[in-house]
Amino acid sequence: MGINGPKYKAVEDRLGSNLEEHLKQRFTDGYTCKEIADELGESTDTVWYWLKRHGLSRSGSEANRLAWQKGHFDREATKQRAYDSGFHKVKQDHPCPWKGKRLPDEWRSNISKGMKGLRVGSLHPLWRGGTSIKNYSFGWKAAKRVARQRAGFRCEVCGISEADLAPRRLDVHHIIPVKNFANIKDSNDPANLRVVCRKCHKQIEG
Ligand SMILES: [Zn+2]
Repeated sequence: MGINGPKYKAVEDRLGSNLEEHLKQRFTDGYTCKEIADELGESTDTVWYWLKRHGLSRSGSEANRLAWQKGHFDREATKQRAYDSGFHKVKQDHPCPWKGKRLPDEWRSNISKGMKGLRVGSLHPLWRGGTSIKNYSFGWKAAKRVARQRAGFRCEVCGISEADLAPRRLDVHHIIPVKNFANIKDSNDPANLRVVCRKCHKQIEG
């Protein structure tokens, strides 16, 4: 596609060869629009237009990357320009309207309704992984039941039956202490449980 503007013609005459071919060559060689413009002594806008007319275009991000790589942009200057344009000031002039204020009660209650169930137990930001020793937490009841059944409701050390201990039940002892587990559930693994009477439990723990 030819371009018949007088400027185009003038540049082509000065160049002494086909300008379209020249532009194509420079473009495929990875020259930026600015570089081509500087070489031809024309403005970047003009060259950008010619490239476009010849179907030579890069995506904005591609053109920017190329220009950055070649150091056509000065990072500090760009930052300064953004600052001078008042970009930061706009932000400062419009702080959050609710900053430091109490939200209307209706909003607060809606927010807390929305948060319900999201901040309890292990989901609470202060949750430290259930380190309390007394509260065996997840699956402990079930784990005890399974362990007592497996032991035939007898102390696994001395053999006394649960019936003989009534109304007291057999204890279920953690062979490796709960505190040594990152996850309490893991400590309740049947392999880690031993069913014992109170007396034997005291001896083990003592
Ligand atoms: Zn016992």
